[in-house]
Amino acid sequence: MYIHIPFCTQKCIYCDFLSGTNLSLRGQFIDALIAEMDCYLDFFREDKIRTIYFGGGTPSLLSVEELARIYRAIAERWDVSEVEEFTIECNPDDLSEEYLTALNAQCTMYNAECKMHNAQLLTPSASLVPLRQGDNNGGLPINRLSIGVQSFVDDELKWLNRRHTANEAFEAVQRAKRAGFKNITIDLMFALPVQTIESLNYSIDKALELDVQHISAYSLMFEPDSKITKLMEMNRLKPLDEDVAADMFDLLSKRLSEAGYEQYEISNYAKKGFESRHNSGYWHGMRYLGLGPSAHSFDGEKRWSNVAHTIKYNAQLLTPSASLVPLRQGDNNVVDQIASGEQGEINEELGVRNEELLPPSALLVQLKHGDNSWVNTIRTVEVLTEDERFNELVFTALRTKVGVDLVDLRIRFGDVRCDRLLRQAQKYVNAGNMQIINNRLSLTHRGIYISDSIISDFMIV
Ligand code: SF4
Repeated sequence: MYIHIPFCTQKCIYCDFLSGTNLSLRGQFIDALIAEMDCYLDFFREDKIRTIYFGGGTPSLLSVEELARIYRAIAERWDVSEVEEFTIECNPDDLSEEYLTALNAQCTMYNAECKMHNAQLLTPSASLVPLRQGDNNGGLPINRLSIGVQSFVDDELKWLNRRHTANEAFEAVQRAKRAGFKNITIDLMFALPVQTIESLNYSIDKALELDVQHISAYSLMFEPDSKITKLMEMNRLKPLDEDVAADMFDLLSKRLSEAGYEQYEISNYAKKGFESRHNSGYWHGMRYLGLGPSAHSFDGEKRWSNVAHTIKYNAQLLTPSASLVPLRQGDNNVVDQIASGEQGEINEELGVRNEELLPPSALLVQLKHGDNSWVNTIRTVEVLTEDERFNELVFTALRTKVGVDLVDLRIRFGDVRCDRLLRQAQKYVNAGNMQIINNRLSLTHRGIYISDSIISDFMIV
């Protein structure tokens, strides 16, 4: 499950994620998010939630109480007993000692005995038994922090329009460790036009000094709606030379692997046992539910994305919000009352006018009968053909170290597609850019940097 928290206090120069700076929308957004949850009560009927990811935006702009409210709403609706990994993205300058302590203290059971929290490896899920039994102390069992560091060089951070300094980021990670978090990932960026091999080396030194469990290292991308793309189009900045960018990629791979991090995906490095379970789910074609404005979901056959506009998202899910309060609180008698025409009583009980209550009554009746079609007012659905699903799986799985499971691929997509893939892969295997080991097709270290051209060769058009 992915939850998109659409708030930031300022916009980074490279960012095209949905995030706004109007923090006064927070309360309404959480109401809308919880209303959206009610549309997907059946989503995890056959398979339980395995990972939860609060991303954004900047989830750490929400108070611990607000985060706990969102988690409680999840736990009230779905079985969270199999959750193995619960990540929150944080900005370094939100991570005060007080905030981290409150975040960590939210689940008292965790600190004392929970293996998920304390152990290096996140299994066994038995550690979540108390949660399963409802004993979560109203807690927030976050066990992984993703801290957006990006660089340990102040000039680079300024260029990126990040709101923290290098020192603040370094100290925030140290505080998180002191607060008891034992699964921390940091983001680094490379191929910045203002970066040099020396400055990247310095950032890597500082990252290694922090000894975190996971590092994501992304090349700067010129996304269509970002400020840097506009600046580039106006000839006000130039991307870094491609050869230097390739050298930076090699430097990261080399230094991080020497330091004991395995490059298990093109942009992701982990110490043993700390690979991101959530992202691995995306890369291996698992179903996921994304909630919040601009969030994407995939149910195995179709993909959908929510409206990328927080005010529209809130309005469409909440108008008029008062009528949804009883449902949100688990009291859906109001649905029966509306269905039987007893609106007078409801009006008194809720203190709302007929006009406010009546428009959404159809929605409530639909919800009561399990019809969540009204959620289509906020989403765009795309039904994927089998070829498109094949392309997506091959594209994402080949970016990972374990690669594509050929046996599974054959079962899911048939002999014709699988044999075609193997025929096309042969020339890359012969050239040493790909390998087949234990029925898995993957890129070799040599093939990783030219992965885009190799993978595009396999797409069915
Ligand atoms: S990169 Fe992250 S912190 Fe920066 S504006 Fe985008 S969502 Fe916000």
